[in-house]
Amino acid sequence: MSTTIHRTIRIENADNDSTIGQLHITTYSQQERTARAIKMLGLCWLLALLSLPLIGAHWVLVPGFLIAGPIVAYKRYQTAEHPSNADGECPTCKQPSSIHLEPSDTLPMWTYCSANNDPVQLIDYPQGEADTTAA
Ligand SMILES: [Zn+2]
Repeated sequence: MSTTIHRTIRIENADNDSTIGQLHITTYSQQERTARAIKMLGLCWLLALLSLPLIGAHWVLVPGFLIAGPIVAYKRYQTAEHPSNADGECPTCKQPSSIHLEPSDTLPMWTYCSANNDPVQLIDYPQGEADTTAA
């Protein structure tokens, strides 16, 4: 099972109004990272195998997937944590907002509040005051 940790963040709008929110981060143990990497490698090599009967395209797809497998798996293995979503009150409309984040997202970033699509910026809380608690 992956673990979710929470980090305090600041949610700010263009008028410099800000509220305090929480960033949910999914973290993976060594074992989970290995399992995720192997799954990815297996998927790529399975796609390589499935590409074999495609006449013509297989000259590109088969070596492509064979080479991509270890690269993608290595990247997966290197991913120890990634953001999943951010919760907090929107500084513009004052509505509780839960913003879904992509694994590749990094703070600070501009996004939209989930209630009214107000543009908001998610900012890491100043270092030293960060409150990191395991769930
Ligand atoms: Zn809003």
